[in-house]
Amino acid sequence: MFGAIYGDIIGSYYETHCTKDYNFEFQKDSTFTDDTVLTVAVCKAILNNSDPIARWEIRKRGLEYAGQFRQYYSYYPYAGFGNMFSEWARCDSFKVNHSYANGAAMRAVPIGYAYDNVEQILFQAKASCYYTHNNSEAIKAAQAVAIAVFLARNRKSKNDIREFLENKFHYDLSRKIKDIKSNYVFNSRASYSVPPAIIAFLDSTDYESAIRNAISLGGDADTEACIAGGIAEAFYRETPKHIVDFCDRKIDSTLKNVAFDFKKHFCK
Ligand SMILES: [Mg+2]
Repeated sequence: MFGAIYGDIIGSYYETHCTKDYNFEFQKDSTFTDDTVLTVAVCKAILNNSDPIARWEIRKRGLEYAGQFRQYYSYYPYAGFGNMFSEWARCDSFKVNHSYANGAAMRAVPIGYAYDNVEQILFQAKASCYYTHNNSEAIKAAQAVAIAVFLARNRKSKNDIREFLENKFHYDLSRKIKDIKSNYVFNSRASYSVPPAIIAFLDSTDYESAIRNAISLGGDADTEACIAGGIAEAFYRETPKHIVDFCDRKIDSTLKNVAFDFKKHFCK
């Protein structure tokens, strides 16, 4: 769970100072951003109600996720939220937004921990998108991230994870980071940015290399690393001590407590 948050923190500096350098330095100005805030909001929605849903309950469940997104936005409005999301969160009524950006995928990691079958994870991920990313491309990306975490924590091999995601979501995950990187640009569109974040994990040797792969793509670094880090932690089952030490004091204690609570309940 914290693997996603650490990725967000380490990537935050490089979201505005894009780098292609794999050996980039950790920057002291790094901070948690909207990726962390909304990942924790998903944790909270699941802590409040972790009951499985049926297909026809997706909209109703979506309201519970959306309620937490709005609430957490109100606690941390300056955490780097995009304009479209901020406008949605400040609106008096629950509008349905159709964003195709990666904002739903960046907060999907907890769903992969909390549920134990593929169909339920697909339903929950779709519900988490209902009010903010009601768009097939964004939904698919959120589902792919949650499923990747689920498969990784169930000790599936990287080949199995790649094959499953390629078949289910029709992503091309056969590419290597070194081949993607040279032409990669900052673009938050889900179909553009989420498959490379998954590849950053598939092409890694440990947690830190997943984060470094993701950030040194030179794009939406905090989100790329949040996704890659969330999957990598589920797969490698550890985050290095120097990363924990670097990030730990940068996480707001309220967010940390909710994430810990979630970890205690759902990350066995
Ligand atoms: Mg961010």
